[in-house]
Amino acid sequence: MKPVIALVGRPNVGKSTLFNRMTKSRDAIVADFAGLTRDRHYGQGRQGKHEYIVIDTGGFEPDATSGIFKEMAKQTRQAVAEADVVLFVVDVRLGLSAQDHEIAGYLRRLGKPAMLVGNKAEGMKDGGQLAEFYELGLGEVFPVSAAHGQGIRTMIDMALEKL
Ligand code: GDP
Ligand code: MG
Repeated sequence: MKPVIALVGRPNVGKSTLFNRMTKSRDAIVADFAGLTRDRHYGQGRQGKHEYIVIDTGGFEPDATSGIFKEMAKQTRQAVAEADVVLFVVDVRLGLSAQDHEIAGYLRRLGKPAMLVGNKAEGMKDGGQLAEFYELGLGEVFPVSAAHGQGIRTMIDMALEKL
């Protein structure tokens, strides 16, 4: 069985962009609008001789009965349940949000192998913006740039080492 890596995080942090990098495909819908991807999305990737499955999350069509946050939480739970390791993606430019705390709390309670990934870190001169993410209680944030392809190889290696 190939290991399953789930990408979770609030809308617009770059999960689908990262999915495309990891799968070398453009299967996921990348949008300049938060939450356009309509469903969870599965892809396959390979690094060296290691093959893996990636789950993208964040597709939801908010309706009257289940709000956007409820649907996001549901998708996150489902993807995390299916995953062997979770990449929790945060936006190092925007900083911490209440949603980040919620997701972190959920992952901590579950105790599933997880890695904190700080996206949009291209061109960052110092690690100052990364420091605040320590308070999520998930260890160090690993900086990447999904859009520019920086840090992705090492991130995948580190994620697979957590299996
Ligand atoms: P998702 O909602 O988490 O799936 O986020 P998307 O992958 O759709 O990306 C949301 C926005 O962030 C898009 O405008 C992307 O182009 C942008 N984005 C994604 N990765 C990066 C990155 O590494 N750096 C910067 N500056 N922008 C990025
Ligand atoms: Mg997306």
